[in-house]
Amino acid sequence: MSADPHHGIREAVRALCARFPDEYFRRIDAERGYPDAFVDALIGAGWLAAMIPEAYGGTGLGLGAASVIMEEINRCGGNAGAVHGQMYNMGTLLRHGSDAQKRAYLPQIAAGTLRIQSMAVTEPTTGTDTTKIRTTAVRNGDRYVVNGQKVWISRVLHSDLMILLARTTPLAEVTTRSEGMSIFIVDLREAIGHGLTVRPIANLVNHETNELFFDDLEIPAANLIGDEGQGFRYLLDGLNAERTLIAAECIGDGYWFVERAVKYANSRVVFERPIGMNQGVQFPIAEAHIEIDAANLMRFRACELFDAGAPCGAEANMAKYLAAKASWQAANVCLQTYGGFGFATEYDIERKFRETRLYQVAPVSTNMILAYVAEHVLGLPRSF
Ligand SMILES: Cc1cc2nc3c(=O)[nH]c(=O)nc-3n(C[C@H](O)[C@H](O)[C@H](O)COP(=O)(O)OP(=O)(O)OC[C@H]3O[C@@H](n4cnc5c(N)ncnc54)[C@H](O)[C@@H]3O)c2cc1C
Repeated sequence: MSADPHHGIREAVRALCARFPDEYFRRIDAERGYPDAFVDALIGAGWLAAMIPEAYGGTGLGLGAASVIMEEINRCGGNAGAVHGQMYNMGTLLRHGSDAQKRAYLPQIAAGTLRIQSMAVTEPTTGTDTTKIRTTAVRNGDRYVVNGQKVWISRVLHSDLMILLARTTPLAEVTTRSEGMSIFIVDLREAIGHGLTVRPIANLVNHETNELFFDDLEIPAANLIGDEGQGFRYLLDGLNAERTLIAAECIGDGYWFVERAVKYANSRVVFERPIGMNQGVQFPIAEAHIEIDAANLMRFRACELFDAGAPCGAEANMAKYLAAKASWQAANVCLQTYGGFGFATEYDIERKFRETRLYQVAPVSTNMILAYVAEHVLGLPRSF
């Protein structure tokens, strides 16, 4: 018996991941492909329906359990970035969707016949300053007509549905800048080629992400989630889960880097001794392990609060900050431990190095977390 309450989930996810070894993810990365077989297996086993309530066909697990699923994928050498959208995007629907929307979509998402992998917020001209978004949705009878542009929108080509944030009331006409934005369900199967153009962006990581162009895209008014004008608030409600899940992925990466570094430092002999015998090699690995373990505590604190229905904005943000920093530190240490061999694709270090680097920028950059903590936790003046 293990004291780990998530032992069973860990073992089961590890067993699934064992069917997709390093070579699999290395090949997908080299091809700039999508891990279809892996994602099908995850969905088939029901793992991506973890947070969907049983009433809608999911398993109704908490954030702690869901985060362990994401952690284990990365800890086994994979990249949960291919699928994590499904884990948190459905929460927006669950919390703010109508009964009809929940009944229409959630059982199919839980069954794996419908994918909700994408959320479109970021825009090229406004970046992090989300309330200034320029994409508009204008009501016209029983439809909304969408015009504008998004950038860095992930998994659009591997999803059926996308959550879209658009302005429904011009910024100049609202009293608070966070008002007047709404969120919609966009059925990508109908939209692409009929008002929505998708242009993939080649990037550092093998992460399917795109520019989106909306040109009079019509979506049914019934696809509005919740009340018009309240979309930004709904979006914020989902951020704690997203940040905590991504913290867990970083922690998975971090442990993976440390395990690889330890193994290599023990086996690589230079100057007639294992390189790990040198304090200059072993101390940075020990330090990386300490930082990951510490971040992990904050991650589980955020999960416990979230699952208890308590406020967890500070903890979720701090967990994401600590975990992304720790995984990047571990990545650097691992690469340094491997020396020249770390640069060879066949050891997977450089691939994971690129993958984990993303999380200091997306889905929220490090500076934005520091600004959040400064303002909302410490009471310092708002800096932007
Ligand atoms: C691979 C990838 C996948 C992504 N997937 C999605 C997705 O699926 N959906 C989606 O909506 N978005 C997605 N994003 C976008 C991502 O969330 C943004 O890139 C991120 O939030 C930063 O925004 P930006 O790139 O516009 O940077 P900018 O806002 O232009 O900022 C640039 C830099 O300046 C810093 N900065 C800006 N203003 C301040 C300030 N006031 N104080 C201190 N520092 C500041 C930022 O922290 C950042 O480091 C993705 C991005 C990438 C790279």
